[in-house]
Amino acid sequence: MTRHYLQLALPSPLRQTFDYILPARMDPPPPVGGRVRVPFGRQSLLGIVLGISTHTTIDESRLRPADESLDTEALLPDSLFRLLCWAADYYQHPVGEVFDTALPVLLRQGEALASAGELRWRTTRLGQLFPLDGNIRRAPKQLAALTVLREHADGMIPPLLAGLGIERPTLLALEKKGLVESVHIAPPAREQAVQSLREAPLALHDEQQVAVSAVIDSLGSFQPFLLFGVTGSGKTEVYLQAIAATLARGEQALVLVPEIGLTPQTVARFRARFMTDIAVLHSGRNERERLEAWRAARSGRAGIIIGTRSAIFTPLARPGLIIVDEEHDLSFKQHEGFRYHARDLAVRRAQLEGIPVLLGSATPSLESLANAGAGRYRLLRLKERAAGARTPDFHLIDLRAQKMREGFSEPLLKTIAATLKKNEQVLVFINRRGFAPVLLCHECGWQAHCQRCDARPTLHRQADAGRWRLHCHHCGTESPPPRHCPSCGATDLRPVGLGTERVEELLRAEFPKVPLFRVDRDSTRRKNALHDLYHDIQAAGPALLVGTQMLAKGHHFPKVTLAALLDVDGGLFGADFRAPEHMAQLILQVAGRAGRADKPGLVLLQTRQPEHELLRELVRSGYPAFAERALAERRQLNFPPAGHLVLLRAEATKAELPTEFLHAITTAAATLDCPEVQRWGPVPAPMERRAGRFRAHLLLQCSQRGPLRELLTNLIPLVEALPMARRVRWSVDVDPQDLS
Ligand code: ADP
Ligand code: ZN
Ligand code: ZN
Repeated sequence: MTRHYLQLALPSPLRQTFDYILPARMDPPPPVGGRVRVPFGRQSLLGIVLGISTHTTIDESRLRPADESLDTEALLPDSLFRLLCWAADYYQHPVGEVFDTALPVLLRQGEALASAGELRWRTTRLGQLFPLDGNIRRAPKQLAALTVLREHADGMIPPLLAGLGIERPTLLALEKKGLVESVHIAPPAREQAVQSLREAPLALHDEQQVAVSAVIDSLGSFQPFLLFGVTGSGKTEVYLQAIAATLARGEQALVLVPEIGLTPQTVARFRARFMTDIAVLHSGRNERERLEAWRAARSGRAGIIIGTRSAIFTPLARPGLIIVDEEHDLSFKQHEGFRYHARDLAVRRAQLEGIPVLLGSATPSLESLANAGAGRYRLLRLKERAAGARTPDFHLIDLRAQKMREGFSEPLLKTIAATLKKNEQVLVFINRRGFAPVLLCHECGWQAHCQRCDARPTLHRQADAGRWRLHCHHCGTESPPPRHCPSCGATDLRPVGLGTERVEELLRAEFPKVPLFRVDRDSTRRKNALHDLYHDIQAAGPALLVGTQMLAKGHHFPKVTLAALLDVDGGLFGADFRAPEHMAQLILQVAGRAGRADKPGLVLLQTRQPEHELLRELVRSGYPAFAERALAERRQLNFPPAGHLVLLRAEATKAELPTEFLHAITTAAATLDCPEVQRWGPVPAPMERRAGRFRAHLLLQCSQRGPLRELLTNLIPLVEALPMARRVRWSVDVDPQDLS
């Protein structure tokens, strides 16, 4: 009898698959895509079967048999399985870790694929017929529960009942009376989502109609779309109506949103429109809830799946449409471990599934704009704000000509005062939390430095008792600020620069009677804090809003008519070649908060570089013109999207080790024939030391993907074989989003 071998993906950092003997007693053999338990050293691990073969390249005597097969069917549909294998190759990441990232933790720990069934409460026959106008009126909770359950003949699961305020004691009381019963129902293997609408869709305006029709026409085949529409132009309404058409075909829609965008309000908007089950996947859910949502998507019970980055790996019984909202958002790129980009994987997945994918943004990434320009994506434009609101006016304030009051120019303060006087709200944006980024000795020029990073810790003031502390945002180290200058002993230590806390203080002093809301990571740590803040802002009259990105993204503030960005230059001249793009996106996002139908908004930008070409283009002609110019610059430098990058990172506690290691890689690469690929470095990372480790970079660049991929495929095994590879932490970042 021929021997068969299982090829497995195991959760291991090694870039390889592992062969095991398929024992004869494992009959039928495990399905490809199913889990098996195997011995691994002295451990026992769960692996995913990638293939079964009669060949192995490993010496038979070294192979061990698999212990146990867990599944009778593949965990993932074939298209998703293939996506993961493709991604492991594309991102040069160990396939075992790719599957590990993609699967819910409980499945990785051996939990059954399908749930054993669920407990449901339903009415008995007596409960159906029982008169509701008798004695039961004296038990209002029981009356309410019975009324609800009578409307749901199939019964309801406890979490849904709890959501309506119906708790277990009430149900037990009704059970005692013989009016309700609890039953265990095994869910069917394939379920059909409910399709009906809960509320009527809006009447689309022309541009929306064109967009929705285009997407609907392409349902059932692969087609990427870029929906480019300013904030408030009605992109979400386009999503909703495209989803409605998808559900009507009996298919499911997968919606990816940025981390900061997945708020209860977002989900509420979907729930208000559709009757179908909506599975929500984000990091705030516990593992049990995640698995249940995953199962609901896989079985087809959930018609809509909304989630952050990792939701791209959710299996769908009947995939119909993928939507990526705010497709330019940085949170779609994973920054450690398996460094995938969820937007890029969404396009690839749509191709494998044979369905359309809709990327939406008010400020599309240059990558997506280039793809639209090249005809790979179909461009759908929404140029008008939907509810009739006008796009805000932009105005640059040249700081070189201004007398400054602690970060605020005179014209800015005057405009703020005038806006408040009109009973309107003002949003002040500064992309730095804390009080000040620098603590400086006024005598000798000494500055506080983090002990573990090449960075300055931010000065924070604790809300209670006004205590101060220095907090490094890169490694988390905290310490009280020194009383005396460690260098000269002077006591004249001063904060320099602006953070949200300092802006709050300045504005409170300037406008003592006006309510002020600060929105940043520190002010929103408490659960529901952000939600409460939004609510209070909505309810307030004239008010000042001070905040970071948190304030700029997602939520709309109808009473804000003036938005001010205190420091545009800091972002514009960052070390990264993407800095201007990100700054432009941020400026427009902040601008998107301002203005409404009857009151157009004004956006004031403080800068010392008013003649900066990209900034002027953005302010004068808007994002498309800015993007065109920025794209031309990228083309000249052969940077993405014109060229392609791979960043090799290395870090170690010993200072010279990372650079030496990357030099060894360069030497290894020289033995491979790849004249098209350019190498930059090795160089120390922009922040050479972080959290006590020294870091270095080696950047590979090529105008085509092909040679770059080929080089990597040949190079990585050589790198893994380097003796030094075990003494440094190193990683490969394909299509890096951030070069720091
Ligand atoms: P975006 O997602 O592009 O920021 P939204 O879809 O949230 O825009 O729309 C902005 C506002 O305009 C919302 O209040 C929405 O209800 C409204 N709106 C969108 N489309 C229409 C329409 N066709 N008719 C009337 N109001 C609309
Ligand atoms: Zn000093
Ligand atoms: Zn630090």
